[in-house]
Amino acid sequence: MSTTAPATRTVASIVNGKAVTDGPGGTATSRNPANTEDVVADVRLGDASTLVAACEAAREAQREWAAVPAPIRGRAIQQIGRLVEENKESLARLVTREIGKPYPESLGEVQEIVDTCDFFLGEGRRLYGQTVPSEMPDKQLFTFRVPVGVATIITAGNFPVAVPSWYLVPALLCGNAVVWKPAEYAPAIGQAMADLFLHGGLPDGVLNLVLADGPQTFAGLEEALDRKLVDKVGFTGSSAVGTRIGELCGRHLQSPCLELGGKNPLVVMDDADLDLAVEGALFSGFGTAGQRCTSLGTAIVHDAVHDEFLARLTRAVEQAPVGDPTREVLYGPMIHQRFLDRFESDALGLIRDHHTVGGSTGTGRITAQNPREGFVGDDPERGLFCHPTIVSNVKIDDEIANTETFGPIVGVARFADFDEAIALANAHGYGLSSAIYTTSPKHAFRFRERISAGMVSVNNSTSGAEAHLPFGGNGRSGNGSRQSGIWVLDQFTRWQSMNWDYAGKLQKAQMDVADVDADLSFRLPD
Ligand code: NAD
Repeated sequence: MSTTAPATRTVASIVNGKAVTDGPGGTATSRNPANTEDVVADVRLGDASTLVAACEAAREAQREWAAVPAPIRGRAIQQIGRLVEENKESLARLVTREIGKPYPESLGEVQEIVDTCDFFLGEGRRLYGQTVPSEMPDKQLFTFRVPVGVATIITAGNFPVAVPSWYLVPALLCGNAVVWKPAEYAPAIGQAMADLFLHGGLPDGVLNLVLADGPQTFAGLEEALDRKLVDKVGFTGSSAVGTRIGELCGRHLQSPCLELGGKNPLVVMDDADLDLAVEGALFSGFGTAGQRCTSLGTAIVHDAVHDEFLARLTRAVEQAPVGDPTREVLYGPMIHQRFLDRFESDALGLIRDHHTVGGSTGTGRITAQNPREGFVGDDPERGLFCHPTIVSNVKIDDEIANTETFGPIVGVARFADFDEAIALANAHGYGLSSAIYTTSPKHAFRFRERISAGMVSVNNSTSGAEAHLPFGGNGRSGNGSRQSGIWVLDQFTRWQSMNWDYAGKLQKAQMDVADVDADLSFRLPD
């Protein structure tokens, strides 16, 4: 990686292929959370009117884009994938710089865009409809996938390129035009990704970028829905905001794609490989400083192995390298000051007297007065770094067992029988990801049957998605929509059915249908 300090860039929304540099929403500064003196970008913010204008541009561009044959749209997706591949290190460096994700994980994020493009470029040559037999002669039935129209996509910034690609790539491939609103704390990444997509051959207006804060986004979306400029909303973010988006869309009879928060359980059975379980808990609990939707919430551990698991996990967390995300660390800084503040007040504030705390030489922000032994880097106070925290003796009714904590904190609870483990794993009402560590197929399949999560890992951590497997949650984690693979096609297309009668006379369904004569009194001789 380069050692010279990279330059500050100026970033702005892109509407109909043009940068909106007048910044009607004011200006903001995006800083490197590992070194807050490093200004990544000066941001010219858009506002509600920018979002509405972007939806208008998308509406204007969509019809022509939908008329481009799907295999040719697939070619654009192919070119975008290759362009992202050619710029992989540069985009990954920006991800690390703007949101503090360790560089190998940032490379993985960018690879996820490439994988998603690789999957969907071929979908341009499939996007199958069906021919369906009719109940009448001289008549044929068909189905077609039709693009939805204009898709407005609002995303969180903890996966600032992988998660948006799960929306953008299939939406564009299916013939929709897109308005994308990335997180306000990842604007430079948003602009870089949009630039790569636009250079991949998308006509002006087919992909628009809006940099705006939450309230302005909501106001713009409300107006755009009122004016029938938006046909589909995709939202990835917190359950609280997702609920509001769901209500707003419901008023317009639209079913948005909602991908929300998680409180992901990891059950450790008495027959588990404990080293494997500890490795999985460490990665899913503390990787990306616990700021993944799929981060481990509570490890639920069988009585027989609880103490040993807790001792090994505590040792692993104490020894884990935390610090500069350009070096070899388990995790870097909190993504943004707001996540640091929320972690210190909301998440650590859930610790009660009956809990036991471990995992580091302190809790909360790492500073000179509150140091982390073995911190990787020169000066922790230059960035937004937090101690990892393990909270044990967690009970089913504890707030910490029922709240998404979104930071480097993991609860540990114990159970005696399987029913108790399942109750602990489901009680919070989220249903995104889950894991069980066991050597018994019976436990693995029983867990799959009874866990409410949309995603289940067996002997693997709660985190880690592949580009062609359905991703999504239930309950407080989402409204049951799924991303990735063929499943997301149902978000960005609608089925249209067609019947074609060439009998030359009116044939009425259910009425003019030939019968089949059968002798239903027939019995086999004894
Ligand atoms: P957030 O809900 O605050 O913001 C998400 C996006 O919505 C941002 O772009 C933000 O600007 C925008 N927004 C905020 N308020 C809005 C409003 N009133 N109207 C319209 N848009 C608004 O979430 P966050 O704190 O940025 O991200 C963390 C959350 O996202 C966590 O809960 C995490 O679990 C979740 N997440 C879920 C998934 C998933 O796939 N299920 C993936 C990543 C993150």
